[in-house]
Amino acid sequence: MIWDIQNKALLRKLWSEGLTATEIANRIGGDATKNSVIGMSHRMKLPKRLPPVNMRPKKVKPTPVATPPDNVSPLMIPVEKIRNGQCRFPYGDPRDSGFSLCGHKTRGATKPYCDKHHDFCNIKNKSEYYKNVPEEFTAT
Ligand SMILES: [Zn+2]
Repeated sequence: MIWDIQNKALLRKLWSEGLTATEIANRIGGDATKNSVIGMSHRMKLPKRLPPVNMRPKKVKPTPVATPPDNVSPLMIPVEKIRNGQCRFPYGDPRDSGFSLCGHKTRGATKPYCDKHHDFCNIKNKSEYYKNVPEEFTAT
């Protein structure tokens, strides 16, 4: 691929218009390829592009945090001290040192939660529990 002044000018123009390297290569013609266009764009120090839409980092929508039922007084058992038969409903942020688990007797030997937390986790309409959740977490 020989990059003459006309090809470089065309590359600069099409690049600024946002065409893809493949489209630019097709417009320039000859033996221009996507890779030759990209290579020349680097050598000409043309501004970098955003990655294609499907390559951009996805905006992660935060998961709403439900307010735990307030009729439970958790025993606040640290994770490393929880035993089988103790409720594993989490309290706090797992990244914080104060993170702990409910600790009450589970609903059954193979169940992870106590009666109240089991009910909380298995109701269909949690809206009454979603209190004080900032609007940006609930907007759809
Ligand atoms: Zn519990």
